Amino acid sequence: MNIILFGPPGAGKGTQAKYLVKKLNGFQISTGEILRDEIKKNTDIGKKIINNMNEGKFVSDEIVNSLLKIHVVDPNKREKLIFDGYPRSLSQAKNLDILLKDSNQKIDCIFFLNVNKETIVERIKKRKILEKRSDDDLDTILKRYDTYIETTRPVLDYYSKNSNFHEIDGAMEIDQITNKIEGFLNV
Ligand code: AMP
Repeated sequence: MNIILFGPPGAGKGTQAKYLVKKLNGFQISTGEILRDEIKKNTDIGKKIINNMNEGKFVSDEIVNSLLKIHVVDPNKREKLIFDGYPRSLSQAKNLDILLKDSNQKIDCIFFLNVNKETIVERIKKRKILEKRSDDDLDTILKRYDTYIETTRPVLDYYSKNSNFHEIDGAMEIDQITNKIEGFLNV
């Protein structure tokens, strides 16, 4: 089963993805984590993207799509992909469709974790203390939220008419959200 977790930064996509990885024996494809890893390892890509990441700006499609592809075409991960943070734009959604089609796969479920701006700001302020992410300061959070509204949220129109699209109130407690997801997945 391939699943997309969609929503603004701080919606809880990563938390639910980690849960689904355990439950379904799947693989979390978090483009944010993949990119942070490039920075940590100080690779050529890491050096190119560090400024954009720190400023809360998108990394180029060229870089994100090539890093994503490695996972989508990996035979071990086939039909066990849990996307967290991808797609983030219409062009990425279309790219994902092509990659999946070429590897004879599809998306089985899309979960939209819907959370308002105030809740996101409060959550990310807490995460800043716990995880010390350099893109979690207030200015950057607000910038990332604006980018979400402008570029990512329109992707909802691309998916929302599908019967496998489910909107979930992301302000609920973590295990309530997990229960909802399990209900839709029938697991
Ligand atoms: P996340 O961990 O999903 O909050 O992502 C952290 C940062 O990584 C984002 O603010 C972007 O700078 C970058 N990033 C993650 N996923 C993508 C993506 N699909 N497209 C472009 N940039 C991304």
